[in-house]
Amino acid sequence: MRILIRGGTVGTETGSSAADVLIDGETIVALLDPAHTGSFAGLADRSIDATGKYVIPGGIDVHTHLDMPFGGTFSADDFETGTRAAAWGGTTSLIDFAVQPKGSSLRETLDTWHAKAGGKASIDYGFHMIISDVNEQTLKEMDVLVGEGVTSFKMFMAYPGVFYATDGEILQAMERAAGSGATIMMHAENGIAIDVLVAQALASGHTDPGWHGRTRPPELEGEATARAIRLAQVTGAPLYIVHLSAQQALQAVTEARDAGRNVFAETCPQYLYLSQDDLDAPDFEGAKYVCSPPVRPKEHQAHLWRGLRTNDLSIVSTDHCPFCFKEQKELGRGDFSKIPNGMPGIEHRVDLLHQGVVNGELSLARWVEVNSTTPARMFGLYPRKGTIAPGSDADIVVYDPALRHVLSAETHHMAVDYSAYEGREVQGGPAVVMSRGETLVSDGEWHGQAGRGRFLPRGECQYLR
Ligand SMILES: [Zn+2]
Repeated sequence: MRILIRGGTVGTETGSSAADVLIDGETIVALLDPAHTGSFAGLADRSIDATGKYVIPGGIDVHTHLDMPFGGTFSADDFETGTRAAAWGGTTSLIDFAVQPKGSSLRETLDTWHAKAGGKASIDYGFHMIISDVNEQTLKEMDVLVGEGVTSFKMFMAYPGVFYATDGEILQAMERAAGSGATIMMHAENGIAIDVLVAQALASGHTDPGWHGRTRPPELEGEATARAIRLAQVTGAPLYIVHLSAQQALQAVTEARDAGRNVFAETCPQYLYLSQDDLDAPDFEGAKYVCSPPVRPKEHQAHLWRGLRTNDLSIVSTDHCPFCFKEQKELGRGDFSKIPNGMPGIEHRVDLLHQGVVNGELSLARWVEVNSTTPARMFGLYPRKGTIAPGSDADIVVYDPALRHVLSAETHHMAVDYSAYEGREVQGGPAVVMSRGETLVSDGEWHGQAGRGRFLPRGECQYLR
C-alpha cells in the first residue's frame, strides 16, 4: 500500500517547507517537491489532502505511567486506553516506566510490563526501568536490560521508604550505567527534608491539597538536582532530570550544560500552564493538580519557557499518571499527603505545546523538536522515529493549526473522570494520525487496533559527548 500525503507543509526539527510525503507500507520512502509530484502521483494507491496543514513526525511521550500499581489500586489508564488517548492527541510512541518492586528482579519486572502492554497497545512503546532495590543482582541485571533495549534507569531522591535511594545507591547505579552506555533518570527532590515539612504541616492542622505544594519548596528540587549532577559528574554517567518544575533546578541544569556535561532535562505541560493557584482551589478540587514535584507559583513558568527555547530543557513529556477524582484522589481528603500523586495529560501534550507556537514562545521547528525529534534522539530511537525522512517509520501527524477545540473530561479519551485543563480552548489539533503507515485517527474517527503497537528496543542516548 502506497500513500501520498499532498499539499501540506512538512515540519521537522530543521524547519518547514512545502513537500509531499510518499509512504510505502510502514515506511516513508520519499519527500517530493510539490511542483514535480504529478509524475509520481500514479505510484500511490491512496492520497491524503494536507492542504493548509502541517505534516509532522508523530509525538513521542517519554514519560508515562500506564497500569501502574499504587497503594492497592492502579493508575486509571492501562496500555489500551492510554495509548489510544495518546494517538488521539498526536502521540505515536511512548516510553513507559516499569517499576521494580522491592525484593523483585529487574528481569521479572520487565516481563510483567511486557505482559501489560502486549496485546493492548495501539502505538509503539518502549520501557525505562525504575530501580527501587539497589543490590548486587540489580546492578548486574542493568547490563542485561541494556542488551534488551531498555537503556535508561530511573531513581528517586524523593519518597523515603518507597522508591528513595541513598546517595551511595545512586552512585553505584550511575557507575554501572557509565560502564554500559545507559542513562540515569532522576526524580530530584530532597525527600528526607520534605517528609519533615509534611509532618510539621499536618501536625499544625494544614490538611488541604495546597499544602502539597508548600511542603515541597522549589529550593529542595534545586538542591537535589545539583546533587544528582555532582554524583553523575563523579561517575561519568549521563543524567536526565525528569519533570523539572522549578527555576532553581533549571539553573543547576543550565550551569552543568554550560560546562559541557551530559546533563539533560525535561519539563511537562502542567508546569508550563498550571500553578500553586490551581492546587489552592477550594473544596478539595486542588487534589486534581497534585503531582510531584508540585505545580509551582506562576513565576516559574517564564523560566521554563525560556529553558525550552535555549535547549536547557530538551523535552516536554507528560508524566501521565492519572487517578480518578472519585475514590482515588479522594483517598487524601483530610490529609493531603495521602492524595495519589499524578495527573492525566497524555492526550493533550502536542496541542498544549502548539499553544507555545501560537503564543510566540516556540518556533514551529522547536515545537517539532521538543515534541518528537529530541525524545527520539535522547532515548535511542532516531532516525527510525522522530523525523520525516526516507527510511523512517511512517509515524506522521497531519496537524491542522486552525482547528479550535475545548479540552474537557466530556470529550477526552483518557479513562479518567476529570481534565486538568477543563474548559481551556486550544488552537490546533491532529486531523490525521498515522503509525507505521496505518491510519489510527482521521477526521474524528478511530481506526486503530489494540495490540498493533510494537515494543521498541532502544539504543543509547545520541547526545553524549
Ligand atoms: Zn513519573
